[in-house]
Amino acid sequence: MSEASVDPGQAARRGPAEGPFRGGVERELGVKDDGRAGPLVLITAGLHGNEPAGVVAARRVLAEISGGTTAGRVVALAGNRGALMRGERHGGQDLNRLWRAPILADLMAQDPADDRVDEAELRELLGVIERERGAAHGAGREVILLDLHSTSAAGGPFSVVPDVVRSRRLARAIGLPVVLGLEQRIEGPLLTWIVGQGEVGVVLEGGQHEDPQTVEVLVDALHVALQHAGVTGGDLARAREARGRIDVIRGDVPPVLDMVYAHPIEPEDGFVMEPGWSNFRPVCTGQGLGLQRGEVVQAPIDAFMLMPLYQGLGSEGFFLCERVSRSWLTASRVVRWLRLDWMLWLLPGVRAVRSTGRGVLCSAPASRRTESWLALFGYRTSTRTGDEIMWTRRRAR
Ligand SMILES: [Zn+2]
Repeated sequence: MSEASVDPGQAARRGPAEGPFRGGVERELGVKDDGRAGPLVLITAGLHGNEPAGVVAARRVLAEISGGTTAGRVVALAGNRGALMRGERHGGQDLNRLWRAPILADLMAQDPADDRVDEAELRELLGVIERERGAAHGAGREVILLDLHSTSAAGGPFSVVPDVVRSRRLARAIGLPVVLGLEQRIEGPLLTWIVGQGEVGVVLEGGQHEDPQTVEVLVDALHVALQHAGVTGGDLARAREARGRIDVIRGDVPPVLDMVYAHPIEPEDGFVMEPGWSNFRPVCTGQGLGLQRGEVVQAPIDAFMLMPLYQGLGSEGFFLCERVSRSWLTASRVVRWLRLDWMLWLLPGVRAVRSTGRGVLCSAPASRRTESWLALFGYRTSTRTGDEIMWTRRRAR
């Protein structure tokens, strides 16, 4: 935010426009509102400027629903317009890592003339979203965010949700494999911010950035989501077809998975992923997954692969997911609806339940077993203070 923190590489990255949107892209990609009651569906696309598929998909879906009568209001917004124009991920600051209360407060206190390129995008996008949310709340509309993304590596598409029942329900209706436990590892995504405001939110990862199939997946996922939200109530056939195609893509991948392991790497490790891995391929304990400092990296558990690192730099070589059972999902819904948080006292290791109901104090080290019990109640984020771990949840239902 301050002058001192200006990224020296920022100017250099502002090169000649190279992306498919070199002619520019409008903030508002499309609006559909027939003045009927129903939810506000905010579709965000291109928060990362190197992910054009979401913008193409959002425009197409808005065009496809323009002829029919719809309930509620659908607004599709471009994320990082400048980065989309330049065909790069961002202009020095990742627009999908800035949705944190201190950053937003600093931005509001800052003179817009001092905004760095991505901050200017954030200010404008936040303004539009807040205006739309304000009007929706005034009209008693539910607010739903569908945030469209794509990945550098090829691999099966999926959705990401915080472990909040209402968002989970929408993601499951869409039908792409739902990955829990990933969102809380990322600092400051739009998804976390909007769900923290009490809205429903789902991130859709449609596939590889340039793969034409990615647009098709995102278009189908949007149609299913709009149908589920009651926006396109009359057009059942379109959503059914779309859902059928998504089911084929998902194949026998479990409908809901929990990201339980992230493999950390440092640039000096020289990590090389074994070739041939893709999202959701089953992994057996002890199986070689890559090379790191000349040694074979073995899978620590039986699991499903997620986001193997083949391109660029990352701080994780791969992620591993476990299947989430139907009974776990049902049980977690029940304990949250019935507000059974008092039962946390019965779990091994839990020392206190904060009166706010937002935090649980555990004696450390928390066992994997205690962790999975806490997750059932929606407590997934941990911070360590001394030898104790504070577990919190954003919102459980
Ligand atoms: Zn992205």
